[in-house]
Amino acid sequence: MSAPPRIAAILVAAGTGARFGGDVPKQFALLGGKPVVVHAYAALAAHPAIDEVLVVGDQASIAVTLGAVRVVAGGATRRDSVRIGLKAIEADLVLIHDAARALLPASVIDALIAALADHDGAVPALPVADTLARVDGDLGETVPRDDLVRVQTPQAFHYDAIVAAHAAWPSDREATDDAQMVRANGGTVAVVPGDALLDKVTYPEDLARMERMIGSIQVTGFGYDVHRLAAGEELWLGGVRIPHDRGLLGHSDADVVLHAITDAVLGCIGAGDIGTHFPPSDARWRGASSDCFLEHARDLVETEGGRIVHTDVTIICEAPKIGPHRDAIRARIAGLLRLPLARVSVKATTTERLGFTGREEGIAAQAVATVSLPGSI
Ligand code: MG
Repeated sequence: MSAPPRIAAILVAAGTGARFGGDVPKQFALLGGKPVVVHAYAALAAHPAIDEVLVVGDQASIAVTLGAVRVVAGGATRRDSVRIGLKAIEADLVLIHDAARALLPASVIDALIAALADHDGAVPALPVADTLARVDGDLGETVPRDDLVRVQTPQAFHYDAIVAAHAAWPSDREATDDAQMVRANGGTVAVVPGDALLDKVTYPEDLARMERMIGSIQVTGFGYDVHRLAAGEELWLGGVRIPHDRGLLGHSDADVVLHAITDAVLGCIGAGDIGTHFPPSDARWRGASSDCFLEHARDLVETEGGRIVHTDVTIICEAPKIGPHRDAIRARIAGLLRLPLARVSVKATTTERLGFTGREEGIAAQAVATVSLPGSI
């Protein structure tokens, strides 16, 4: 049995986004909270058949956006950029993809690779649904669309076929895409079903449409915390100072309510727990206000393109009575999470004098948080 082919992908991210407008090239615009190029890269890198992904583009911008990935600087035109990329890889098969096409289903990659079994190249394409017509000031004649398709990327090729096609292409002529160059050089190019998710981000309104296509998922996290009651300590619950004869003891301000909510929020994005981010061994957090813990968790969610939509917390203690402070605690939590008051619930219960909370040795809190995250494809 022969070894499986080595498959590389070239992600062309060198465009300037002239039609997109603004200062940010379209491949760096945010989609679901992440730059478009990050989605495109992740889809290629995650595919099990692809051995290597090379990015062609501005090295500094790519390093900031994608971190330590393999990058080579692009050329003056897209064709130059692809040629530079082809020289920089070693592969039997290569996929060439535009960074402005963010959402790449794995099934399209599968179909392209399968089609290379009996073709020099393969492209994903979609039928043209709209009526096409010429226009010269006023509406002109309709163009028959029955045999027309919209060609997308990635385009897949046998490495030798695409390198030969680039070498043979006249240097004074620009090519619309790589597949046309392979055809012009006598190669065969298969057409596999494309996907609307692969549509190019050309105009700012494309991003809003794609956000809707990605959709969102709701995730729930759970948090629980306990601190010991001790004389001579301040009592902070939910970011509010509460008058009491004792307070909670801990490395920070020991606010069990904010700690439980922080853990619930971190749980929504699988980001560990409060101790992961703010180790008690770190002197910086001695006596710290727990506001900063919750704000940090909220910011992590926002970095993932997510949004906290609700939290519900139960405070478990015999004393003090929470009722008189409930509104202040709700308002404080709503402020920290940037939520409307109606999305913050604060409840309290005793344990009928049972257990450590019943003996007033400590206070416990448990919380759930709900986060809306960008859906995945
Ligand atoms: Mg704690």
